[in-house]
Amino acid sequence: MTTAFYSHPDCRGHDMGEGHPECPERLDAIDDHLLATGLTTALSLREAPMAKVDDLDLAHESRYVTELGDALQRIAADGRPRALDADTIAAAGTWAAVMRAAGAAVAATDAVIDGTCENAFCAVRPPGHHATRAQAMGFCFFNNVAVAARHALDVRGLKRVAIIDFDVHHGNGTEDIVANDDRVLMVSIFQHPLYPYSGAVPLGTNMVNVPVPPYTRGPQIRALIEENWLAPLDEFAPEMIFISAGFDAHRDDELGQLGLVEADYTWITEKIKAVAVKHSGGRIVSCLEGGYNLGALARSVAAHLRVLTAA
Ligand SMILES: [Zn+2]
Repeated sequence: MTTAFYSHPDCRGHDMGEGHPECPERLDAIDDHLLATGLTTALSLREAPMAKVDDLDLAHESRYVTELGDALQRIAADGRPRALDADTIAAAGTWAAVMRAAGAAVAATDAVIDGTCENAFCAVRPPGHHATRAQAMGFCFFNNVAVAARHALDVRGLKRVAIIDFDVHHGNGTEDIVANDDRVLMVSIFQHPLYPYSGAVPLGTNMVNVPVPPYTRGPQIRALIEENWLAPLDEFAPEMIFISAGFDAHRDDELGQLGLVEADYTWITEKIKAVAVKHSGGRIVSCLEGGYNLGALARSVAAHLRVLTAA
């Protein structure tokens, strides 16, 4: 079966300034490594369309979508960057990038549901999991994964989807959007305390939050995932699985202090894929979130994709 790989050149046009870790080179590093390892040939490369406002409205307050969209289009026209929070900067290329990032997630969801691929990875930026219903923060503008999950439920008629978030940071935005939506089970693991300092107390009954202290390494994280994620996922039996695939829990990543290595990302992806095969017809849409050490990011994405593309 095929793994689709969604991206778009516009995702490189979003530039938050010299020295910002969420930089266009992240996508170049991934592409270069996939080419060098020959993994590219195992993928179905697809160009991300622009998201539709109707889809963004499924996860965000309509007024937020309109106001952020207007602001980003003004900035695209006048070229004057504007900080939305201390580290989330809108610049000339931001509007096109956010629309391609969310559009990739929705298109990947349609492709997986329609069966033109078995699973899909969206190599996009900006990331999305800190974007709440009505606030851009933490490098995120629209919540790509939450938009796609709601599209699967509200537009495509699925009844239950799981969102799995293994980024080093808590996915506060996704939690804000899907808390107490019984059609969604969200499971996550993240360093705590660490930005955005939320997640220790789940916001909804449909959340499995696993906060872990700094310097936790792969073996303990694997054990915590087995103890906390697998039974609830099995019981929930999702029809489709969305992954907030952040690779900043890697031991070489300076934005967090966890100790995962490439083999841990292989293991985590294998566990998720087993749930998908058992309950979801193999349907997985994985979207890039964090990951800021360029080498570690590229190798970890490759590890993730090797499992997704395996027979
Ligand atoms: Zn992160």
